[in-house]
Amino acid sequence: MEFVVVYSPEMKESNLAVCRRLYGFEKALKELGIEYKEPEILEFDEELLYQIHSREMIDKSKKFFAFKATFKSAWCVYTAVKLLDEYDLAIVATAGTGHNAMRDRFRGYSFINDVNLAISIMKDSMPRIAVIDTDIHHGDGVFEYAAYNDNISIFCFCNREESHESKICRHVSKLEDEIDSVFEDAGSHDALIWYLGQDAFEELHEQSFDEKCLERIARKIRELGTKTRIKTLIILSGGVDSEVTERISKKIFSVLI
Ligand SMILES: [Zn+2]
Ligand SMILES: [Zn+2]
Repeated sequence: MEFVVVYSPEMKESNLAVCRRLYGFEKALKELGIEYKEPEILEFDEELLYQIHSREMIDKSKKFFAFKATFKSAWCVYTAVKLLDEYDLAIVATAGTGHNAMRDRFRGYSFINDVNLAISIMKDSMPRIAVIDTDIHHGDGVFEYAAYNDNISIFCFCNREESHESKICRHVSKLEDEIDSVFEDAGSHDALIWYLGQDAFEELHEQSFDEKCLERIARKIRELGTKTRIKTLIILSGGVDSEVTERISKKIFSVLI
């Protein structure tokens, strides 16, 4: 399985608390000898952001002290998705962007919606997209954006029990039991986005979402990638602890490389 990592080292120096986890990501890359591509290898047209957010919201984001890191994070996602033309799997570590950002407003530490950006770039060439969201929070912004698009399936493990056709929220305790069936469904799509919220892993450690579970999901991604032509994007997001980031990054890479 051909994979690429897109990462911008300057993001970690931002004053935003969530950027600190990137030190752990970088350490994992170094120790495993994994090379990454910087987002700037491709030009990023800011206009793309207006497909997913209002101009007012982006103008507001620009005044935010950590906008530089947030913008780079979006750029990383853009470049990673574009590189899926050549690779089966792209992995990005983000900060300041996230699944909570709504079209018109910020939520949590999400100032630009990276999942929606990925969907908006993918959807012409890969219309059927499955999103597996294992963050502890519900991805409001993604649900808002994809609500009326039946081609987009969302499997969200946010501790709610709700389902509306192709959009499903489940209790996180069901994750382990449902990995097989979720991946069976995901396999019928053109692309898969795994929004790996590290916060769920930090807060639910040694309950249902543990390292074994993480490893199983990574194995399923590898299995699916070798059996089908599905393109996969992993967005490593959420959480603040750089040691946890380092540990889970190593875990995922150990399965995928
Ligand atoms: Zn979260
Ligand atoms: Zn949910």
